[in-house]
Amino acid sequence: MGHTNQCSSSLPKALSWSTHHRLRGENILAAIRSVTHLPISHLVYSHFHADHIGAAYLLAKKGVTIIAHELTEYELTITPDPNRPLPHVTFKGSHTLHVDNQTLQLDYHGPVHCPGNLLIYAPKHKILMLIDLVFPGWVPFANLAEAQNVGMFVKAHDLILKYDFKYYIGGHVNRLGDRKDVLIQQEYVQDVYNNARTAILLSNSPPNATNPLSINTLLGPIQAANPNNTWASFAGYVDALTEYCANVTTQKWLGKLGAVDVYTSSHCETLVESSRIDYGYLGPFGVQG
Ligand SMILES: [Zn+2]
Repeated sequence: MGHTNQCSSSLPKALSWSTHHRLRGENILAAIRSVTHLPISHLVYSHFHADHIGAAYLLAKKGVTIIAHELTEYELTITPDPNRPLPHVTFKGSHTLHVDNQTLQLDYHGPVHCPGNLLIYAPKHKILMLIDLVFPGWVPFANLAEAQNVGMFVKAHDLILKYDFKYYIGGHVNRLGDRKDVLIQQEYVQDVYNNARTAILLSNSPPNATNPLSINTLLGPIQAANPNNTWASFAGYVDALTEYCANVTTQKWLGKLGAVDVYTSSHCETLVESSRIDYGYLGPFGVQG
């Protein structure tokens, strides 16, 4: 919310980028009106999630043109919501929006957070907006911000850094970001990834004094406690790997980013599972060559 307001004050006066949830929608309109009395001509959907465009109906009532990636429209047809009207204009790839002397570049580089999420770039102002990807000063929201494609979420940090920007708008928590924030989160995510992979590797290695994760010793007690329950045994395996990953990651990052103790475990669980089924590191459950 704060980000969106700050964005509005420094951006093209006839453009509005994205609205937040309905309870705050009126505040956004008031914020826009605090910096311009020009008509609001366009509304760009950053992505389809309700916590970011759930107040879109307020602007739709005023006759603005809603622009979105075609996949955002598709997602909105799956979960229809009168608070999030379908866009009037859709596109594939990229779209450039010119209004008076202002330009917004709308780029789609794949589902880095969800299908249809846009990188919204104001070249004149060197402002980049990508919602629910980087969280300046904080770890991401749970499960890598509910990433629907984990590999794309991880790669997105490099995509972001290819843009020439000074200010980054992430859409959550309490401040704007910059390139350093993107690099810090990239390092954190890479650590979680590495620690998840190490946990899988250890589970596929012989047990010893420093390896409590070996499948040879880990699975027996879990199976004994959950006889004839395959899913319970597997959940116990993933839980143990997640706990290892979270402990190692938290030791390094606690105090360096906000909420390391809150969400690191969920990020580890996401990357343990993604390492297995997306990246193909199946460990003891893979095809043994
Ligand atoms: Zn989202």
